[in-house]
Amino acid sequence: MDEMGEEIPSDAPWKAPLAEEWDYMTMKELLDKICWTKSAKQLATLFVNLCVTAETHEVSALWFLWYVKQCGGTTRIISTTNGGQERKFIGGSGQVSERIMGLLGDRVKLERPVIHIDQNGENVVVETLNHEIYEAKYVISAIPPVLGMKIHYSPPLPMLRNQLITRVPLGSVIKCIVYYKEPFWRKKDFCGTMIIEGEEAPIGYTLDDTKPDGTYAAIIGFILSHKARKLIRLTKEERLKKLCELYAKVLNSQEALQPVHYEEKNWCEEQYSGGCYTTYFPPGIMTQYGRVLRQPVGRIFFAGTETASHWSGYMEGAVQAGERAAREILHAVGKIPEDEIWQPEPESTDVPARPITSTFLERYLPSVPGLLKLLGLTTIFSATALGFLAHKRGLLVRF
Ligand SMILES: Cc1cc2nc3c(=O)[nH]c(=O)nc-3n(C[C@H](O)[C@H](O)[C@H](O)COP(=O)(O)OP(=O)(O)OC[C@H]3O[C@@H](n4cnc5c(N)ncnc54)[C@H](O)[C@@H]3O)c2cc1C
Repeated sequence: MDEMGEEIPSDAPWKAPLAEEWDYMTMKELLDKICWTKSAKQLATLFVNLCVTAETHEVSALWFLWYVKQCGGTTRIISTTNGGQERKFIGGSGQVSERIMGLLGDRVKLERPVIHIDQNGENVVVETLNHEIYEAKYVISAIPPVLGMKIHYSPPLPMLRNQLITRVPLGSVIKCIVYYKEPFWRKKDFCGTMIIEGEEAPIGYTLDDTKPDGTYAAIIGFILSHKARKLIRLTKEERLKKLCELYAKVLNSQEALQPVHYEEKNWCEEQYSGGCYTTYFPPGIMTQYGRVLRQPVGRIFFAGTETASHWSGYMEGAVQAGERAAREILHAVGKIPEDEIWQPEPESTDVPARPITSTFLERYLPSVPGLLKLLGLTTIFSATALGFLAHKRGLLVRF
């Protein structure tokens, strides 16, 4: 997957050499071709479910390969140490919005969803659900693209934007936190991360969510994709029971059956999110509509994590996108040249991303092309025979 990702430009996945071929394929079809064993396919399927809270048959292979690539690859996106899952905010990430609001004061208007954007006059006129009117020279829209469907536009959106917003859904996830008297798993020297596959397991992935000072011992887990749709039929208490039974089995501990508290958040029912963690692209959409994702419509500019080219789908991507959209407007009013619109985000000084390294075995042995290359060095005959086998099985082997 990482090798295929290398061929996909982060800022324009539709320009990949095999963009259409990969975009017309689902991740399920791709995994059916590249995974030789049932367990490899199961793990790869869980990887997709976990990364983008969607099923492998729902997402475009091009889009998913791009998504992983622009997060730094399969290891970076999934890793806790030196990866996307490493850090949390002390006090919670909601503080980012709260502190920005502290700086902006009452210019921030909460609970006023925009319902109408009118660009017919000199200024852009924005109307909210409670019929307040705001006027500005420019507007930055930083909502998930599909939520653009809740807004009326005068004049109407151009064709491709109008259709894009009907074609890009968000994933499904219920976030669950089970609290315990103490982090009992640590007594067994377990870190609290569980990767659990199987239809009967409600949770696919967990992390130790205990506070840094050891208080509020907790396991955070995600009910992913179709399981969120299935398990929403249960009551909250029934879900908690299922989770505890699962953790008891995986951790081999009866203490998992004794929670002291439970919190869950079903992101799928949030009408101003539409789902979570982010938007996914079904097959065929990226190559047909991707080009207009951040193309301004008149004086409306587009931000939001979906429009980012690095860590799209994450808070980091949302920040990159917001700054880029702001610079687009600075350029539109003549304050900066065009070549200053795109600027790389500065590397974090306290948490720099260290390079991902791999051993020879990790690089070659488990991969089909690597195995064939290795055998090719020993005898031409065996490489030919395996090449024939790969061909017969319809594998995407590229030498
Ligand atoms: C369970 C879960 C776990 C996640 N974990 C992580 C993580 O560990 N790390 C990470 O970096 N990211 C994580 N994410 C993703 C992260 O939350 C998003 O990428 C990020 O919030 C996107 O920011 P945004 O500003 O683009 O959009 P949003 O945060 O979705 O903000 C859009 C805003 O627009 C508002 N809005 C919608 N419609 C309208 C309208 N018509 N008028 C006015 N306002 C409107 C919404 O109310 C919302 O406040 C997670 C997401 C979920 C759901």
